[in-house]
Amino acid sequence: MGIIVQKYGGTSVSTEESRTRIAKNAISAYQKGHQVVLVVSAMGRKGAPYATDTLIGLYKNVIDENNTRELDLLMSCGETISATVMAATIRSHGVDCAAVTGFQAGIITDMTHGDANVIEVKTSKLKEHLSDGRIVVVTGFQGVTEAGDITTLGRGGSDTTAAILGEALDAEAIEIYTDVDGVMTADPRLVPEAKVIGQISYEECYQMAVDGAKVVDHKAVEVARRSGKILKIKNTFNECEGTTISRETAAIPKTMQPKIITAIASKDNVAQFTIQIAYDDDRNEAFLNAFEDTGVSMDLINFFEDEKIFTVGEHDKPKVEEILGGLNLEYSILDDCCKLTAVGYKIHGVPGVMKRIVLSLTKAGIEILQSGDSHTTIACLIRKSSLEKAIRALHKEFQLND
Ligand code: ADP
Ligand code: ASP
Ligand code: MG
Repeated sequence: MGIIVQKYGGTSVSTEESRTRIAKNAISAYQKGHQVVLVVSAMGRKGAPYATDTLIGLYKNVIDENNTRELDLLMSCGETISATVMAATIRSHGVDCAAVTGFQAGIITDMTHGDANVIEVKTSKLKEHLSDGRIVVVTGFQGVTEAGDITTLGRGGSDTTAAILGEALDAEAIEIYTDVDGVMTADPRLVPEAKVIGQISYEECYQMAVDGAKVVDHKAVEVARRSGKILKIKNTFNECEGTTISRETAAIPKTMQPKIITAIASKDNVAQFTIQIAYDDDRNEAFLNAFEDTGVSMDLINFFEDEKIFTVGEHDKPKVEEILGGLNLEYSILDDCCKLTAVGYKIHGVPGVMKRIVLSLTKAGIEILQSGDSHTTIACLIRKSSLEKAIRALHKEFQLND
């Protein structure tokens, strides 16, 4: 029997009761003859003592600087605490177990602190533990540079650790356990009638993740696609079947029409910038260069002759203001926006999808501030205050409730 990688998210490892449930789950796979690698996130969500956001707060409350190397060192502690407590829980049930950090697991990354990319996994230590009969608990979300600095893989990065280890160890299964029943047609916190998607392709799931469906990290989906490994998303707290992420899209009986839209994703904390600048002004090149140099990523980009409109994540707003102010450019900002994205591999070339989006949002009294599309998505920028109303309107319009 092969290796199973199981990843458990922050809520899943947050109480003694749930850690016991996880230990029993892992031990059950181990007793069936599998070698078991667990990947764990930091315990709980914002406010919980060792949650990643709480740790970031500890630092940022002292000084609002961006020493990403030290922030990574601090952020990595949440997962380290979680892994050691989880390993102790497994041992308390009579099975040998070792907790290891990303560094000890041989996860080597580049130097992009806060959003590092894995360049190599040296699996020998992990394999040693496994062949000695131990369950191994690996800290999610972290790695180490060749120079020995601790890095983190980007928010939600424990999923990526699981996918990376699944690939490097040629695992038989990669299971991602979380606090919902799988990848759903929308965030169930916003749309209570959202449904579990039983099977979804890497491409669609990647797009959902990039556009805000945080149930699985987009880098994890990309790694799984690269290795051809199937990702299973399941609920830690029940026995639901969950979602299979693979090359296949949902199986549809021949008698049924496939749905045009698979899911609606949303991303908040978006700011819209409008810059007054003529097309032949030299400062066009200057601000675009500065964005590239400082790593600002623009989205929903509309460039007109004497006006440039685009969105950025709220966290990039200070950088953008500094750049534009430094170039003496005239600009305005619309804060508290939200990007709503309809995802569906069938969208491309189908007439009428945009019409349905526009009409259903307009009927619900929601103003569309900007829009954009790709071959699998149509996105609208709206005010954050109308998010729930908007996402429910689209969910209903595309019959995702059924
Ligand atoms: P974990 O700590 O287990 O990694 P996350 O908070 O990162 O969990 O992701 C799970 C959350 O993702 C759910 O609680 C849910 O609110 C949110 N979510 C957003 N979009 C979706 C979606 N389309 N399907 C399922 N969950 C979603
Ligand atoms: N703890 C990290 C975060 O909150 C990684 C993860 O949960 O996947 O982003
Ligand atoms: Mg997550």
